[in-house]
Amino acid sequence: MNQTILLKSRPQGTPQLSDFEFQKEAENLEITDGEILLETKYISVDPYLRGRMSDAKSYVPPFNLNEPISSGIVAQVKASKNNDFKEGDFVSGLLNWKTEQISNGQGLTKVSADLAPLSAYLGVLGMTGLTAFLGLQEIGKPKAGETLLVSGAAGAVGSVVGQLGKILGLRVVGIAGTDEKVALLKNDFGFDEVINYNTTPDMAKAIQDTCPDGVDVYFDNVGGPISDAALFSINRFARIIICGAISVYNKTELPTGLSVQPFLVKNSALMQGFIVSNYAEKFPEAIKQLSQWLSKDQLTYTETIVEGFENTPQAFLDLFSGKNKGKMIVKI
Ligand code: NAP
Repeated sequence: MNQTILLKSRPQGTPQLSDFEFQKEAENLEITDGEILLETKYISVDPYLRGRMSDAKSYVPPFNLNEPISSGIVAQVKASKNNDFKEGDFVSGLLNWKTEQISNGQGLTKVSADLAPLSAYLGVLGMTGLTAFLGLQEIGKPKAGETLLVSGAAGAVGSVVGQLGKILGLRVVGIAGTDEKVALLKNDFGFDEVINYNTTPDMAKAIQDTCPDGVDVYFDNVGGPISDAALFSINRFARIIICGAISVYNKTELPTGLSVQPFLVKNSALMQGFIVSNYAEKFPEAIKQLSQWLSKDQLTYTETIVEGFENTPQAFLDLFSGKNKGKMIVKI
């Protein structure tokens, strides 16, 4: 029985399980020349999918209603009539939320379970690892001795950003939502300081206290009041990477906050939006570097693995209440 998850309605505010619909098809999928039959093994759920569920103009087209949702997936080739793939191969790429599907192989990359656990190709060796590496390098331009502040620090992107900061010789301060995440970041990922934004009454002061020399690079995954607070600590020539804004993705009214201009002018600071796909030509080099650090144990990662295709929508919803540590992945 092949199963598919469709977008049933465009979420209003926080997405609900009722925005998704399951469909089952009994007939066997038959491939023709040039095609492969894929069996899904791991599904990546990502905050950016929220944007594609609305029909507002963005850098990627919206999902269509009553059609499958798609995201990063690792799948195994069950049958092949395509010379580039053989039965048993594992591939990674943008695929539909289906337990089985047919592909012509375009846009798929072969991945090997011998080099890394398959789920890692959706995280540290996939889109989120690339985002951390390229966002930090290309916009952050980090220099040893500087202070790096990271919001969403215990998530897939943030936990890698902080470690890269340490590898490059920066002082790294993280912001996360629970004491358990604070402990993880300090003990396992080498962050120098971590602020729990849910138990800190004055974020601007907490950032000033933990970044006594100011903030040179701010890697922003969350936006909103946390990022407003960070502006009070930015240094002259600071670089602010706007990677994401999860705190406002579910807002139904246009969010308001500080006017950033005086902070940027006063400090000659740079604030720039980052989209990982703009840097596609740098992916092979970035993956090579991330793989090297992983193999030398200079870089590590954590995952929250949810079991069962039927739990994919809930795993996606749980990103917005911080249930994940590191990359949120569904194992089929
Ligand atoms: P993630 O951080 O693994 O998961 C989301 C985390 O966000 C949650 O665990 C939660 O942690 C935190 N969060 C949720 N609601 C929040 C709120 N209201 N305020 C503060 N924190 C909140 O997700 P990810 O995949 O690594 O993505 C992180 C950010 O990067 C997202 O904004 C995403 O859209 C963006 N991104 C951008 C690109 C790009 O190319 N621009 C690529 C990948 C990801 P706490 O418990 O700490 O709250």
